[in-house]
Amino acid sequence: MRIEANNWRVIAGPCAAENPEQILETAKSIKKAGADVLRAGLWKPRTRATAWQGAGKEGLAWMQEARKQTGIALTTEVKDMESPEAVLKAEFEIVWIGSRNGMSYPLLEETGRQTAGMGTQVILKRTMAGDLDEWVGAAEYIAKHNPEVVLCERGIKGFPRDTRNVLDLQIAKLAQITSGLPVIIDVSHAAGRRDLIMPMAMASKAAGFNGLMVEVHPNPVMAKSDAKQQISLTDFELLMGRLALIPNGL
Ligand code: PEP
Ligand code: MN
Repeated sequence: MRIEANNWRVIAGPCAAENPEQILETAKSIKKAGADVLRAGLWKPRTRATAWQGAGKEGLAWMQEARKQTGIALTTEVKDMESPEAVLKAEFEIVWIGSRNGMSYPLLEETGRQTAGMGTQVILKRTMAGDLDEWVGAAEYIAKHNPEVVLCERGIKGFPRDTRNVLDLQIAKLAQITSGLPVIIDVSHAAGRRDLIMPMAMASKAAGFNGLMVEVHPNPVMAKSDAKQQISLTDFELLMGRLALIPNGL
């Protein structure tokens, strides 16, 4: 399983891994609905230092078990110099670098170095106010060591009162054209609310991007982080049904 230019892949799963049952239930359901990759944050970057910071290393085994039972590929966020090593030991197919770290050059280089030559892909989220040059430039720090980089647009800061961020498909498309790298769209962190996920995902597929990242939780309102923007397993199935009707790149 690879995320590639000229292809469409779906990465789905909870904002954070909370317990083994949540991970397994999600993996089974999204795999059945046609998702390619299970996402779940283990080391969560939280705005407040007193907030829950994620399950950490313990969650690696929950995700490995879910892969064993379903065959789904795995991805999680690497947040510091230690996390790439732990994730690679668990043989995750993909790692991602989050928005807050999207221009942390030492982490970008270290992740590139550690994933080099292993077939591991590295998703680089755009920073919250990054322009085209900064985003594609940051990707070069990873690509220096590992060329398997995927860009991810997750919304930028702007003036929205009613959404979390501004989904910027324009720069995402320019990044895809100018870099030649695959580009995927994280509709959950862009919108910050579940009612916009379906239409924005449909727009992303129609516009010829290379995949979707979407937060899915068995019980979204009870999620320990990002509860407002996660969709239920049933809504994910519905979303996949709708997406199947849309050609990738009209
Ligand atoms: C996430 O994907 O859970 C996340 C924290 O995203 P971002 O880095 O885009 O805020
Ligand atoms: Mn999240």
